[in-house]
Amino acid sequence: MAHSAQRLGVAYRPSLFNSASSAGVLLSVAQVGLGLPLVLYAGYGALQGDEPNGVLLLAGTALLVSGAVSAFFRRRMRLPLRHLLLCWMGAVGVLCQAATGSQAVTFTFAWTPGLLALIAFAVVPAAQSVFYPLVFIPLALITLAVHPASNPADVAMSALLMLATGLGLTWFARSAVLAETDELTGIHNFAGFEQVLSAAMRDTAPTEPMSLVRLDINEFALINRRDGLAGGDAAMVAFVAGVCAALPGSATMARMEGDAFAILLPGHTAAQARRLLERVQASVVGFSAGIAAREGAESQSEFFGRAGKALFEAQRVGRGKVITHGGYYASPAAVRDGLRNGEFFLHFQPVVDLATGIAVGAEALVRWQHPTRGLVSPAEFIPLCESSGSIQVLGRWVVHESIAAAAEWRRRRRWDREPVSVSINASARELASVGYSDYVLGECAAVGFPPALVRIEVTETDFGTDSGDVRDNIRKLRAAGVRMSMDDFGTGHSSLSRLTEIDLDVIKIDRSFVSTIDAEHDSPVADLTIKMAMSLGLDVIAEGVETETQAQWLRDRGCQYAQGYLYSRPVPSDDFVEGVLNLRTSNRP
Ligand code: C2E
Ligand code: MG
Ligand code: MG
Repeated sequence: MAHSAQRLGVAYRPSLFNSASSAGVLLSVAQVGLGLPLVLYAGYGALQGDEPNGVLLLAGTALLVSGAVSAFFRRRMRLPLRHLLLCWMGAVGVLCQAATGSQAVTFTFAWTPGLLALIAFAVVPAAQSVFYPLVFIPLALITLAVHPASNPADVAMSALLMLATGLGLTWFARSAVLAETDELTGIHNFAGFEQVLSAAMRDTAPTEPMSLVRLDINEFALINRRDGLAGGDAAMVAFVAGVCAALPGSATMARMEGDAFAILLPGHTAAQARRLLERVQASVVGFSAGIAAREGAESQSEFFGRAGKALFEAQRVGRGKVITHGGYYASPAAVRDGLRNGEFFLHFQPVVDLATGIAVGAEALVRWQHPTRGLVSPAEFIPLCESSGSIQVLGRWVVHESIAAAAEWRRRRRWDREPVSVSINASARELASVGYSDYVLGECAAVGFPPALVRIEVTETDFGTDSGDVRDNIRKLRAAGVRMSMDDFGTGHSSLSRLTEIDLDVIKIDRSFVSTIDAEHDSPVADLTIKMAMSLGLDVIAEGVETETQAQWLRDRGCQYAQGYLYSRPVPSDDFVEGVLNLRTSNRP
């Protein structure tokens, strides 16, 4: 356990005073509390007509000054500064002991290390507070013992008392560490995480980015049943080690209970947290996650709760999903307002026949011209709409507008050519909604557009959603001639056997596999996908084709269709008709 805790690099172990300013106030009070008696004592000596003890006077004044400075900068009292001040106080205690020799007051100073241990425990991570009694108690004892006027009986008595105090405080610190640590994995438990979260929220301005992730191992109960409790424990430890290895040093991971975890990512926006999790998912498979980005002055429990809601949503839509909580910006009401105010619009990207360079269809891609955020990419707001549920309203609007646009293309086409299809992206939540297929077919019927020219694109991970409603919708759509595309193929985890089972017509190779192709480099994944699709009798569309080299490479391997900036960026419907469809001269759109 200790081994895993060490390897996991536990970033921050909270202490009692976990916010910078409360620790700052405590340290300031402690310095003044130590400095004031020193100055008074030295002053009293002078009043009595004795020679004033210069060291005590100087040390006391310095402590008063550093106490005042600490009070002033209390909000900046981060960890290294806390250590510095503790060491400074410890050093003053030892110095005063040395300066007073074996006077009665020396024994008072001998107590400072004990006191210091207590303050240390309150202001630095519990595990590190053990350092202070371990270093300062022996140091104080040595100072006492080596003094020429020392009395061995007094030193022995002090040693015993200090040892007892030190041991007691160390035990206290250790049990506090254990109370905040998960026994099996060595990372924080729920209580520890709460401390870290409250410290992080208090120490940073609400405007600084911070994300909270909650994740759950998929079907952990199954692992336990299959491998027994010991096997389950080993899998849990391996999982935690895998995730922690992929996290940045500033992150804190904690085990909430059973197979539920939380990760705090200071300095990360929701989009950055999402990218990070996707990288983690590439090395550690089998978890669903919910992300929430801190919003304004929300409370700790609201923040934690929103990440929990996103996780719940992720688990609802299928295994291995990562969902970002929409916060308050892509709520159903906001999306409805946006639709009413005409803030959403569609762009269309041609799908091109690689052999002829002629457009055979177009994919509808939604855009949001947000009144305060400017033009927002769907990669950012679609996940938010998915988690808030507003995707249902938006998705229906996209279906309506896309089919209306495609019907319009048919009317405006100037020269005779192959019919042009329209591809519409749908998220799992839409496909799982009762009546989705009826809505799509109803829209086709309303404008007289053949369903056979509609393609519904669903990402690979969403295809895995095993719900009866999804299957019903897909069956109905295909029965009417609509073709189903698997989007972003290669980024999910479909097994080969699964591919043969699901109702599918088209595979789209994700652009991450196409972008690696150049004069020197191949793309084994793209190559394999084309071969596999051909043997399964499916169409293949390569996404993100940007160079002629990539297009030629794909053509050579028998890929039929492509999309990408080489042919056209997504453009407004009118530009698609005039600039692509009705362009007779060029071999390319
Ligand atoms: P997608 O369906 O895989 O769409 C392809 C994305 O790749 C689009 O980004 C497109 O602009 C971009 N792209 C196309 N060709 C190239 C290229 O040559 N190079 C590069 N670098 N990128 C290229 P976009 O429009 O930002 O859409 C992002 C994702 O948002 C889409 O990925 C899709 O998953 C989702 N999305 C877009 N519109 C909708 C919608 O109406 N409903 C739903 N549910 N999702 C949508
Ligand atoms: Mg797509
Ligand atoms: Mg795609």
